[in-house]
Amino acid sequence: MSADQDALRQQFEKKYGREYSEFLAADAMASKLCPRCRTETLHKLWLGEPNTRMGDSIWGKWYLWCEACLTGIYCPFGTHMVPKGETYIRWGDEESLRKVLPAGFRLIRPETELKAKSDNAT
Ligand SMILES: [Zn+2]
Repeated sequence: MSADQDALRQQFEKKYGREYSEFLAADAMASKLCPRCRTETLHKLWLGEPNTRMGDSIWGKWYLWCEACLTGIYCPFGTHMVPKGETYIRWGDEESLRKVLPAGFRLIRPETELKAKSDNAT
């Protein structure tokens, strides 16, 4: 992990927890290097809603995972845009999504989300 990536990771870590931040930092640096198994097999999948446009971009969400160790994240809360020219699966197309996500995919959730869930439960 580069120094820049490390600094980013530490910044994210306060918000999202360690495991999630490692993947988020890799994404922010456009790195393909998996923070867990150290292979360059990170893959990003966009989900887009073509009817929700923001300028000439469309609204989207993404998954990022490692094709070697099948670990990854779903994008953090917030507004994301599908980069121009990027292919995407239509938002809400659960069937296509199931086909593309690898079997055995382990989704890391941000700690803020886990905390929100446990707060609701109590
Ligand atoms: Zn990996």
